[in-house]
Amino acid sequence: MRRGLYLGRFQPYHLGHHQVLKAIAREVDEIIIGIGSAQKSHEIENPFTAGERVLMVSCALSEFDIKHYVIPIEDIQRNSLWVSHVKSMVPPFEIAYTNNPLVIELLREAGIEVRQSPLFKRNSYSGTEIRRRMLKGEKWEHFVPRKVVDIIHGIGGEKRIKTIAQSDDE
Ligand code: NAD
Repeated sequence: MRRGLYLGRFQPYHLGHHQVLKAIAREVDEIIIGIGSAQKSHEIENPFTAGERVLMVSCALSEFDIKHYVIPIEDIQRNSLWVSHVKSMVPPFEIAYTNNPLVIELLREAGIEVRQSPLFKRNSYSGTEIRRRMLKGEKWEHFVPRKVVDIIHGIGGEKRIKTIAQSDDE
């Protein structure tokens, strides 16, 4: 039994994440998805709640027919303790998957095997680009799995981003 941990903020979950998880599903028996910065929402950089992101990831993952756990993980103030914090929140795992340099460093220092994955269409399959498009009223739906599009439409995600970007200045 090999469990792999995939960490991300998923603001929102997009087709780049989806491609990576499809490949991870071929390498391990079970996948744990850690939803990072779980405490953040209703910010331009972090518009979606942990619960909404759990729903996005769970619905998208139902396509792959692999047992998975989707677990929100709040940030903590001490990077040096973060890996212990993550380990305390998720089932035991053998491999972690990430390309985030800080996350790679912290996991490797803790003796955890880290695998990096190729980036797919990084300019478009990107949370930053998708949030920018939502804000500007441009098309973003083709960068996100269909089930996630429905979730974002259902919660009024586009309207939320536009509203929180407004200022109350004259
Ligand atoms: P993210 O959602 O930006 O990315 C998740 C993963 O997807 C990354 O490995 C990224 O490289 C990959 N990815 C993105 N676009 C891709 C594409 N087009 N193709 C293939 N892969 C793609 O999330 P992140 O920033 O890596 O999340 C790390 C989380 O860990 C954050 O929530 C951060 O706050 C948390 N963290 C917390 C602490 C602490 O609390 N002290 C310390 C370190 C990290």
